[in-house]
Amino acid sequence: MQADIPAIWGAVPTLPNSGAEQKYRAWLALSLHANMPCLTKSADLKFAPERFLPGVQAIIMCALPLPVAAHPPAPPGVPSGLVALYARGRDYHRAVGALLRRIIRTLRARYPEAIFRPFCDTLPLSERTYAMQAGLGRPARSGLLANGLYGTHFVLGGLLTTLPFAEAAGDAHSLLDSKPPHICAHCRVCADACPGRSLSTAPDGSCMLDVSRCLAWLSIENKDVIPIQNWVLFGERIFGCDICQDVCPYNAPQLGGSGGIHHALFDSDHAPGAYLPLAEILAIRDDTAFAQRFSGTALMRAKRRGLVRNAIIVTANGRHTSLMSLISDLQRDPDPVIAETARLAASLLRQ
Ligand code: SF4
Ligand code: SF4
Repeated sequence: MQADIPAIWGAVPTLPNSGAEQKYRAWLALSLHANMPCLTKSADLKFAPERFLPGVQAIIMCALPLPVAAHPPAPPGVPSGLVALYARGRDYHRAVGALLRRIIRTLRARYPEAIFRPFCDTLPLSERTYAMQAGLGRPARSGLLANGLYGTHFVLGGLLTTLPFAEAAGDAHSLLDSKPPHICAHCRVCADACPGRSLSTAPDGSCMLDVSRCLAWLSIENKDVIPIQNWVLFGERIFGCDICQDVCPYNAPQLGGSGGIHHALFDSDHAPGAYLPLAEILAIRDDTAFAQRFSGTALMRAKRRGLVRNAIIVTANGRHTSLMSLISDLQRDPDPVIAETARLAASLLRQ
């Protein structure tokens, strides 16, 4: 089975997780979660898999490597915005969903009585905690997991199952022999490179991420007007941020980083690729046109409001005055966030 699955997977029994839960609640208490109500509301559920599948006995976690290519140069002469690695092809939730369905089909043929419930950001469970406990990686200072096959370039999904742990783990591909060395203790490269200075270290040595200062949140989940003093954090990034992964030694080939893995699960007709022309984004006039362009990709998460707002910010950051007429039009956009961001950008571009 493993030969035709472009991923690694491991299993963990559904034991109490009080240590991980305490750590999560301590992070919430520090108000580093950008006041996202979903994160406080889900605190009681994050480590309670039995709430989502009565009789659950094990969790199978999968790590799907992202298609990684050498960082491409920006297209010459075309003002463009950079897209985070994970969002350059098909929406990874769909790719992981396809992978999980393949695993379920295989396991169901062997264990017809077992019940499976797949999840990939669809349940409030702590995917990272369970993946770590299943042996798929160790926690890195960047807040991500790192393993010896893919570095930090992978995404997670899982299956709740009524299969006993021993059977669920029977086919699991343990990474215990290929764990990378623990190098974060003597490294701060990601924390120092982070534009928002959003990575810090808890007294126990674990990572603490200030979500409100992280560009991955600011550029995607946040849908408000971004204060102009924070525009510098974006640089040329129009959707997400990879800086803490780009600089991380875990992703260097000699440590097992995944440079060069490609697979069809991420193929998409609507794939944005690494760079999007800013003029194309600024010219998207409504939600329908936005969905036609980006359906099936992770960029849908930002919605038109977020992506056009980000394109305006990147236009101003790059002083792309050739796009001034598009920015001027957007000052009259029916979306108040886009219109206000365009007004701020126009005043900057005129200076
Ligand atoms: S950059 Fe250094 S400190 Fe940060 S996750 Fe990678 S190895 Fe750890
Ligand atoms: S994604 Fe970017 S902003 Fe967020 S922690 Fe990493 S480097 Fe910092």
